[in-house]
Amino acid sequence: MPHLTFFRSIVAVALAAMGLTIAPAPSQAADNAMPPLPGVSIITAAEQYNISHLYYAGPKVRLTFDDCATQARLTGMENWLKAYNIQAMFFFTGRCMLAHPTYASQLVQAGQLLANHSYDHGDYSRMTAAQIKDEVRRYGSVIPTTTPKLCRPPYGAGAFSVGVYDALAQAGCRPAFWTVDTRDWDGSTAATIIGRVKYGDATTPRVYPGGVILMHGTGPHTLEALPGIRQALIDRGYATFHIN
Ligand SMILES: [Zn+2]
Repeated sequence: MPHLTFFRSIVAVALAAMGLTIAPAPSQAADNAMPPLPGVSIITAAEQYNISHLYYAGPKVRLTFDDCATQARLTGMENWLKAYNIQAMFFFTGRCMLAHPTYASQLVQAGQLLANHSYDHGDYSRMTAAQIKDEVRRYGSVIPTTTPKLCRPPYGAGAFSVGVYDALAQAGCRPAFWTVDTRDWDGSTAATIIGRVKYGDATTPRVYPGGVILMHGTGPHTLEALPGIRQALIDRGYATFHIN
């Protein structure tokens, strides 16, 4: 069957080309290795808690920063976090890490945690399982991730859906959401951002122990808001995670 043989060789060439383009390097693939998680048929209340609190139950509050940042802003955030020995979690996209090749090592050296926020910031709730897995793996092909491996769906879309949960589980990843949405990306002032953390508003609850604060490296006033957020946590007797 010459036609079939020819077809197979074409497929092999195509797969090899795809492998060269999107497959992670072997050492990075090893860093991303994690036993598969079980699929679920329902997101239980306990699992919803885990997704919102990043699988943490305790007295501390986690600061998280999504998407990307300019070098100047990232350095400012790192310096501020270091000054108070705070360990935050950075959900930057794979595309961001590719555009800024020093960010991953810079953050790790600063004692900060990296987690997966997709490669290209697509809406997981509109994607097939294969597309979601590809987004997770393409991020992983740019940088190694932390343990436990957490994946925050862009926009939080699908974070509590069975389909997205299972697709992430197949990629060795646990869904991650937040408890406080500062909406710092929309140009809100530092005072407004701090107010949302302290008091909540119509769309977000206020911070509480075990909570996770969603911020963005792209937020124009986020860096400016950090001292007020820290003070609000101190006033309420809440601790943050420390750099080891
Ligand atoms: Zn995002």
